[in-house]
Amino acid sequence: MVGRFLQTVLLAASARQAIASCAYGTFLHPRAEEGGAVPINTFGYTGSIGPLNWAQLEAANDVCSTGTRQSPIDMAPGAFNMVPASELALEVPDFTEGTEFENLGTTIEVIAKGGTLSFSGKVFELQQFHFHLPSEHLDNGTSQAMEMHMVWQSAEQEIAVIGVYIEIATEASAAAPPVVVERRGRFARPQQVAHQKRQNETGAVVSAKAPTVLLETIFSVVDAIAAPGTKVETPPLIMSEVLDLIKAGGFQGYSGSLTTPPCSEGVHWLVSTAKLAVSPATFLKVRDIIGFNSRFPQNALGQPNLLQVAAIAAAAVQAPIAK
Ligand SMILES: [Zn+2]
Repeated sequence: MVGRFLQTVLLAASARQAIASCAYGTFLHPRAEEGGAVPINTFGYTGSIGPLNWAQLEAANDVCSTGTRQSPIDMAPGAFNMVPASELALEVPDFTEGTEFENLGTTIEVIAKGGTLSFSGKVFELQQFHFHLPSEHLDNGTSQAMEMHMVWQSAEQEIAVIGVYIEIATEASAAAPPVVVERRGRFARPQQVAHQKRQNETGAVVSAKAPTVLLETIFSVVDAIAAPGTKVETPPLIMSEVLDLIKAGGFQGYSGSLTTPPCSEGVHWLVSTAKLAVSPATFLKVRDIIGFNSRFPQNALGQPNLLQVAAIAAAAVQAPIAK
């Protein structure tokens, strides 16, 4: 069944220079020609190519160790401004023919062109969405199973990222009996409310306890891109389920950075209060392929970069040894 969706699975002949998976497909890191080889990123998450040393990999990465508005952060009260979903317009078309799903070595990424995000008087166009495991942002101190980043770019070359936490589903499937409840003066669609838990308007948490169909559909072909540098065509992707869920919540907004080199600042972050879910089996399958791709939580916004804090601490410890 899955086989008919598989098209070309390419092994990249060589690892090309690539510096910004969170920004892949944007002006910071333009995508190669359609049909070309999938680039494999040269940075990583452990050892000397990991986030403690990103600034040493490229001169352009300096801000990774000097920036004072770096992402991810702990999304604790006071760290963000609540942005109601009503303050932005969010549209993403369905990908009825499927779309490309790539393994960049540092993340797995779905190419998704054509959606628009309008807020603060600006219009951004969707470029791609990709996944981190575990989550990069902390939900008020708590790591989540995964995090999806939807990366948008404006004509003025500004970048916005919608972050959405992904939990491990506690229900077996999305095929639950329909439940219709009244919401905001009208009846919500049954599939929207059957698996949601809503709290208040400001810190609303909309939680999907059944596997999100979009994620299960994408990850149904993840085995085909187990190796870095490979790609596969997804089955048709229906985006409305996830968009409806996101729009039912709010957004925790702040100005931060890319969470990958070159760690550029000025990124408009919108972390959704809605949560998606994957089945336990799917989570394990994806974990085996991603491994680990989460930058450590950065210092509070405006505070000194933690790597500079650590450098001072290390120098202080080493001083007696040098005597
Ligand atoms: Zn990312």
